[in-house]
Amino acid sequence: MQLLEGIPVSPGVVVGRAFILDQPRLRVSRRCVPADAVEIEIERFEQARRASIEDLNRVHHEAESQIGPEAAKIFLFHIGMLHDKALIGPVHERIREDCLAAEAAAAEVLREWSDRFLAMGDSAFTTKADDLNDLSERVLGHLVGQRRRRLEQAGEHAIVVARDLTPSQAVALGKARVTGFATDLGGRTSHTAIVAKALHIPAVVGCRWITERVSDGQTLIVDGDRGRVIIEPDSATLDEYTTYSEQRASFSVSLGELTGLEAVTADGVPIELLANIEFPEEAAEAVQAGAVGVGLYRTEFLYLTSDAVPTEQDHFDSYLRAIELLAGRPLTIRTVDLGADKYTQQRVATPERNPMLGNRSIRYCFRALPMFRTQLRAILRASAHGPVKVMFPLISSPSEFRQARLYVREVMEDLDDEGIPYDRSIPVGMMVEVPSAALLMNFFAREADFFSIGTNDLVQYTLAVDRTNEEVAGLYDPAHPAVLRLVRHVLRIADRAGKPPSVCGESAADPEYALLLMGLGLRTLSLTSSSIPALKRVIRMVTIQDCKRIAEKALTFDSGASVTAYVRDQARKLLPEGFTGRSGSDSSSEKTSGAAQRE
Ligand code: PEP
Ligand code: MG
Repeated sequence: MQLLEGIPVSPGVVVGRAFILDQPRLRVSRRCVPADAVEIEIERFEQARRASIEDLNRVHHEAESQIGPEAAKIFLFHIGMLHDKALIGPVHERIREDCLAAEAAAAEVLREWSDRFLAMGDSAFTTKADDLNDLSERVLGHLVGQRRRRLEQAGEHAIVVARDLTPSQAVALGKARVTGFATDLGGRTSHTAIVAKALHIPAVVGCRWITERVSDGQTLIVDGDRGRVIIEPDSATLDEYTTYSEQRASFSVSLGELTGLEAVTADGVPIELLANIEFPEEAAEAVQAGAVGVGLYRTEFLYLTSDAVPTEQDHFDSYLRAIELLAGRPLTIRTVDLGADKYTQQRVATPERNPMLGNRSIRYCFRALPMFRTQLRAILRASAHGPVKVMFPLISSPSEFRQARLYVREVMEDLDDEGIPYDRSIPVGMMVEVPSAALLMNFFAREADFFSIGTNDLVQYTLAVDRTNEEVAGLYDPAHPAVLRLVRHVLRIADRAGKPPSVCGESAADPEYALLLMGLGLRTLSLTSSSIPALKRVIRMVTIQDCKRIAEKALTFDSGASVTAYVRDQARKLLPEGFTGRSGSDSSSEKTSGAAQRE
């Protein structure tokens, strides 16, 4: 038996068999071969090409029965490419004329094809570029003798072990009905972690060496509450976890009793609890958990769940579905927040050097205007069917907000011309997740209709700590005094302007941190639905006076660790029962401190 510590990102405990997922991207150096080895290289390429065609014929056949002939056609495109002389010729040429090794020549030619498709700009061609990247991995996998492990092979009830997972791979895990996952890399608020939570897949990330320690088929326990992975547990440990799972289940049942009750403090102050969703169907769970609306709909997940670029109708259908499920409760639609760890980097030939500080979110939308306008049209059309708000991510200056709002107005004019109805007074708001936005709140308070503080990004940008990097996970600290001061500043200015904001970062779901936020003046929290009942339970047991007292004192400390220790101590004094018995109680305090869960 072996115990590995990581970062708990999605609660729950599962036992299953390990499935190791290889890294899909292969790095190929521009290796040359002696002139007399050229024919050998050409034959190597030909063998890899034939083997790839064989693979694809098999995959196509399987896909036809699983997803239907139309959707399976994509593999025919791949097979066609591998027969195309326009692809084969240049690879042979480069091996012969430049003496390139087969994998270097194939990688180069396929990348050039992919770049050509990307340069065409149209979404149909962008998808083709993805196909070529996929094809390239397949051929190179054969050439460099790497075994490809595709997610579809994982099988139900597998626990996926990988170096890292992209958010779209995490979505695929849900489709493959994987029970849990553990990765070497990753951080607490990475989008992969957020997807895992949305799909209720227990997960531990940042385990550092797990891919080197686990073999296929070994029994694993993934403890997503406490951030542990146990390899080949002994029978005593298995028994212990069985008991723990039973306690956990009965605690969830007891929380269910709170559903119909108000989220109001013991001294009568109402707290608004909204839900964060990534998929429209989650709106049903939000209502069931007692959310009074959706405070953050991360619409970029539309791009992560399908290979095709979503159309206006795809957007509209998703929004309408969420509106219907919410039955009159408000839906805050955030415009796509692509870039950084989501979507774009896997699709470009040259990834950005520092994508968290790069072309992401609203910046990406401004450069992809047809895409942005398409989404805005769908949001506005949806606003005719229920209470919808539109919110822009990663705003860093007032001019950026004005620019985004201008596009909303332009799209409104188009809809007017076409006689399409929409809500003319749709609230237009913004995320406050960049320190510059927090510091310029007095300007924004005059212009935006509402605000949501995104602590996931606000922490990373205030403290210069990549939210997805396990190496610096111990420095990622929502309780850092600098973060608390920025949050307090935003709350004060927005409240004064009569536009009280919400907080929608992951830390809003941590009851101890929530006490602190309420003490700072926050009255609206937006969080993952599954965390709502536990938070409501705590809210009903505390008074705002206590929260204020805790926050006031917390602001006198000069480190996040001291703040966390103090808040934890106070919370447990106030509510000896409130913080016991709930799932993840061991880790929740560390969640506040952001400490890495590792020895
Ligand atoms: C945030 O940054 O806090 C946030 C809610 O947005 P996301 O996690 O999608 O970046
Ligand atoms: Mg964000």
